[in-house]
Amino acid sequence: MFLTISTTGTPERPATDLGFLLHKHPDNAQAFSTSYGTAHVLYPEASAERCTAALLLEVDAVALVRRGKGKGRGGAPDAALAQYVNDRPYAASSLLAVALSAVFSSAMKGACRARPELPEAVRPLRIEIPALPARGGPDLVRGLFEPLGWTVTVDAVPLDTEFPEWGDSRYVRLALESEALTLAQALRHLYVLLPVLDDAKHYWVASDEVDKLLRAGEGWLPDHPEHKLITSRYLSRRWSLTRQAMEALELVRLAEADDSEVEEIDNAVEAESETEEKPTPLAVQRRDAIIEALRAAGAGRVLDLGCGQGQLVQALLKDPRFTEIVGVDVSVRALTIASRRLKLDRMGERQASRVSLVQGSLAYTDKRLKGYDAAVLSEVIEHLDLPRLPALEYAVFGSARPRTVLVTTPNVEYNVRWESLPAGHVRHGDHRFEWTRAEFRAWADAVAERHGYGVEFVPVGPDDPEVGPPTQMAVFTMGTTNTPTTNTHTTNEKEAKAA
Ligand code: SAH
Repeated sequence: MFLTISTTGTPERPATDLGFLLHKHPDNAQAFSTSYGTAHVLYPEASAERCTAALLLEVDAVALVRRGKGKGRGGAPDAALAQYVNDRPYAASSLLAVALSAVFSSAMKGACRARPELPEAVRPLRIEIPALPARGGPDLVRGLFEPLGWTVTVDAVPLDTEFPEWGDSRYVRLALESEALTLAQALRHLYVLLPVLDDAKHYWVASDEVDKLLRAGEGWLPDHPEHKLITSRYLSRRWSLTRQAMEALELVRLAEADDSEVEEIDNAVEAESETEEKPTPLAVQRRDAIIEALRAAGAGRVLDLGCGQGQLVQALLKDPRFTEIVGVDVSVRALTIASRRLKLDRMGERQASRVSLVQGSLAYTDKRLKGYDAAVLSEVIEHLDLPRLPALEYAVFGSARPRTVLVTTPNVEYNVRWESLPAGHVRHGDHRFEWTRAEFRAWADAVAERHGYGVEFVPVGPDDPEVGPPTQMAVFTMGTTNTPTTNTHTTNEKEAKAA
């Protein structure tokens, strides 16, 4: 799999700035290992006038099959050989998109610490992909890239050059050119549109893909004339996810929702969930574990701190024992989506009296959060910079002080078990840190001791004998005695208060 990115320049604005933008020095050939092969970055040419970076992904077909995801295109059950002999090593598929985002993650975000002005500047770009699987053919390729400002040259690759009468294969040779885009925009277009054209992802599409799509699609996807096709294909035509994404896109466009369409999609989701056999997504297992722990604690009035788009609040509302549910988040956008998900404006009075959504930051103490039975911090702490964590700790355990606090966070040891995660990468672009089980325990034990709580640990998801579960949960209960699992921490009341 192969892709090149070229730019031209002048002595004042040398083309070799591409090296800064990609965070890869033009003089070095570098290799990055991923769970399905090796990604190489090298520069076939690098001068002030012209610079080309090439991303070459060497797919290890055997590793891909071993990981159980090498079903091959279409996943035909009789395709035993096709697992090993297929187009994966050659064609620019979803694997290349994942490699792109892993190897050029800073460039995709538009970050460049050394030269902060660079990523914002548009520059002449030319991208070439010699073998791109394109379900929908050259017309669709043009339909996807042209509205984004690319000049598209696309040629269908014949099945066999000696027998032109056989017609074209589903592969195309693609060249994209633009003078009006930044490199970050270009990379985000590719990251989304390569798997869309390939129309077959090499890994199970879970709900975090919705976030990835929305992030990568920021600024261009909502207004793209093919946004529906892009969203549905990107999410492997999973209706429930497609609906989530479409809802969010719609909000961004501030368009009025067309209820009949939502209903249509709702029906399709129901039909899908009856027929589709699928693993329970981790997010659902996490919610179930949280709800079970809240029930066990006998909590009725519950805070969901960092509630995001309100999935947990929605689940809690279904159980009448939760008499008051407050979702708190710093992000207005997340709260807007949560309020739409919950249909707050159309809710009956009784239901509505049980739930509220409030905007606030957990980095500050907040009187509104006092006096609750329980607080949940589900996948929130890792979104704070470590130096801000003592402030959150004090706001929750020192000031709000609910009897029960549940904290979940990824177990970084488990990351080696994710197929789509290149070695050494965190699970989410916004994670400031991910902890091992020992690190999480050390933090939780220290917090418990500082604030007069006991703490127990519950695995969420399959508890791997070697690396533990994908999610770790700490259940803090006020006033119980803690059995310390580590004694390396020191109590420091002053530090906590100062925060
Ligand atoms: N609890 C949800 C969402 C987790 S994502 C779930 O389990 O799915 C993390 C959330 O924390 C985001 O919605 C983010 O906006 C929120 N967040 C991050 N920092 C915050 C802060 N300082 N105060 C309040 N919310 C914060």
